[in-house]
Amino acid sequence: MKKALFLDRDGTLVVDTHYLYKAADVQLIPGAGEALHALLKAGYLLFLFTNQSGIGRGYYVLDDALACNRHMFMMMGFREDPFIETCIAPETPEDQAVYRKPSPKFILEMCEKYQLDPQNSWMVGDKLCDLEAGFNAGIRSAFVQTGKASDTDPHEFLREHGIPVYAHILEFVEQL
Ligand SMILES: [Mg+2]
Repeated sequence: MKKALFLDRDGTLVVDTHYLYKAADVQLIPGAGEALHALLKAGYLLFLFTNQSGIGRGYYVLDDALACNRHMFMMMGFREDPFIETCIAPETPEDQAVYRKPSPKFILEMCEKYQLDPQNSWMVGDKLCDLEAGFNAGIRSAFVQTGKASDTDPHEFLREHGIPVYAHILEFVEQL
């Protein structure tokens, strides 16, 4: 079975600038590129899993989110997309959630498609919904402190489920 990382984007790999949609506004979290290169070298399959309710709200379109992703890969020194698959969930919190985190649907589909080992697969993110998505899918979760303050406090969930906390994505990767 294969090991994998499901990575949130905003607040985990790039600075959460609130409804990021312009490629020129993408700012990497320090060490994020190094972390992804190290993960690939260590044999992890990488998946990008990002809620983008700005699409559902009509603030921007899917192509804007994809352009930001491409700019992120380029800034990280990748010539090609390092993610084996990407899920951009466009729903707003008011919509019926299909892929929107905390739904585990994307993770469950990928676990089956790529025969992932849940004990060696992680969802990493800066918000409660990231941790819940990983938990709901039966894989492991890790929290990074590079996001901005959220209206949903993750601390009770972190304590209750013994989820590890890291200063940033590179710190998480270095202890794997
Ligand atoms: Mg985030």
